[in-house]
Amino acid sequence: MKTTIVVVDNLSTNKSSYTQAVDLLTKGELVAFPTETVYGLGAIATCEEAVAKIFEAKGRPQDNPLIVHIGSKEEIKAFTHDIPKLAEMCMDMFWPGPLTLILPLKTDTLAKNVTAGLQTVGVRIPEHTVALELLRLLKQPVAAPSANKSGKPSPTKAAHVYHDLEGKIPLILDGGTTGIGLESTVIDFVSEIPTILRPGGVTKEMLEKVIGQVREAKPTDHEEAPRAPGMKYAHYAPDSPVYLIEASIVKLQEAVEKIHSEQKKVAIIASESFNQVKVDYFFSLGKKNELNDAAHLLYQALRDCDETDVDIILVPVLSTEGVGTAIMNRLEKASNGKWYIG
Ligand code: AMP
Ligand code: MG
Repeated sequence: MKTTIVVVDNLSTNKSSYTQAVDLLTKGELVAFPTETVYGLGAIATCEEAVAKIFEAKGRPQDNPLIVHIGSKEEIKAFTHDIPKLAEMCMDMFWPGPLTLILPLKTDTLAKNVTAGLQTVGVRIPEHTVALELLRLLKQPVAAPSANKSGKPSPTKAAHVYHDLEGKIPLILDGGTTGIGLESTVIDFVSEIPTILRPGGVTKEMLEKVIGQVREAKPTDHEEAPRAPGMKYAHYAPDSPVYLIEASIVKLQEAVEKIHSEQKKVAIIASESFNQVKVDYFFSLGKKNELNDAAHLLYQALRDCDETDVDIILVPVLSTEGVGTAIMNRLEKASNGKWYIG
């Protein structure tokens, strides 16, 4: 299959590209499109065959459910029921935006493989012109996980999607680099106390201001069933191993020297404040303490490592304030919790 990339921004100048995307989706094909978080790989959520192509193209385990994307709030009534009041409040406050709500699923509405057989569904309205135009033209729910090969960092550029899925999907809508750069926050409204299954751009503090007490799921909470990404499977991992390390220039320089003495090459992914460390490759996460920039740059940096001959990747830990929680969550997965101890 030939994979076409078309540049899109607004509907009036790119009408034929949107029509092509809508036609492909309606026919049961896959289309990758930008959202404000990362690029998504979409299929019509009511069509089991179309959704099966997502798992096939990504090499995604079948028991890992997909997030359903819609263009307007009214659409959720078709496939959810008994929406809690607190969930309604979150939708009103954060949609369109990077917040996925887990809600009770109305049976026999969506294709079974979307929810991996669960009685719940994850849903959100993305805040991105291209995604919204597409969803509003289509007027149907679209199942869309991140448009990367399973296990790899999520794509923040059309080129990343092409790199991972070339030959496997017909169309990529190129809307430039995505804004946030990390996937949506996933919050479960089926559990008694609303529970964050995956941290993201909408933080616990932001949620608590609107709905009061919110829990954070521990990675061990759901070992038997992967209720949120990375809870069971490897995620966000470059080819070479990632190690976390204390955020100290001295510690980093010592680690690099030790690794060099073993004839190995090393990369550092860190804020510019660490760029004086003498290392083989340095991938910047922006200015010190600018966590939004770090979120925006993280997946590109992890992917950049795969373009080098590096043996080990070191990442000094970041603050867990605000979006830092989400960044460190992804780095814990990328490193599989490993710390460099020399
Ligand atoms: P991805 O699109 O790759 O970022 O993955 C979407 C993630 O959303 C999945 O891995 C799930 O963990 C989460 N998710 C989607 N639907 C549900 C659901 N019904 N219950 C719990 N988590 C879900
Ligand atoms: Mg993903």
